[in-house]
Amino acid sequence: MLDVVKNYRDIISQISKLHKEFSQTSKNPKLIAVSKTFPEEIIKKVIEDGHKIFGENKVQEAFSKWKSLKNNYDNLELHLIGPLQSNKVKTALEIFDVIQTIDREKIVLKIKDLLNSEYHDRTYKFFVQVNIGDEEQKSGVKISDLTDFIEWTIKDQKLKVDGLMCIPPYDEDPSLYFNLLRQLCDQHNLQHASMGMTNDFEKALKFGATYLRVGSGIFGKRS
Ligand SMILES: *Cc1c(COP(=O)(O)O)cnc(C)c1O
Repeated sequence: MLDVVKNYRDIISQISKLHKEFSQTSKNPKLIAVSKTFPEEIIKKVIEDGHKIFGENKVQEAFSKWKSLKNNYDNLELHLIGPLQSNKVKTALEIFDVIQTIDREKIVLKIKDLLNSEYHDRTYKFFVQVNIGDEEQKSGVKISDLTDFIEWTIKDQKLKVDGLMCIPPYDEDPSLYFNLLRQLCDQHNLQHASMGMTNDFEKALKFGATYLRVGSGIFGKRS
């Protein structure tokens, strides 16, 4: 069996084992196979093993890889997990099903605009990215601005928010941040928490993630 398929099956079985082990708090999260930098031929192996949910962090790269994959395979769910520029929103709505990185008003307005004019017959999920560690250089809405931003998005702009996403500070135990993101979701009545990567998805599951984003654990090291 190909490495990626073996890795993929291993991660899936780890997740279901962990879900049983942490049944009190686990929300039975779904796996997002993060395929950034990997070519279609490799991604296909995982699709053909039955996986449907994938993540990419660059709009243009995703568009060129996934346009044909989506034509050839049904029911794929593609998540944008990288930064979104307003001039890329149209391409993003063309190819992605879930946009996880909404972090400012301009992006919300642009999405609303395009949903009204062109993309009303598609269904999307939208997540707000939270700067969970309050880090200077990181993208995401600051925690102190989060309530206002979510309320403005939902009430004023009438854009449904389905969840929150975070990338915790690199050099710290992420548990505290995963716990905090889950609490913020619950406070705002949002179902989805996207958190946890190859090195820490176990903790994210334990703290109530609904989506885990695993890349190198499946596809191997990126060059
Ligand atoms: C690349 C990436 C991942 C996956 O990271 P791995 O450590 O390879 O599992 C998850 N989330 C985001 C936002 C990423 O950019």
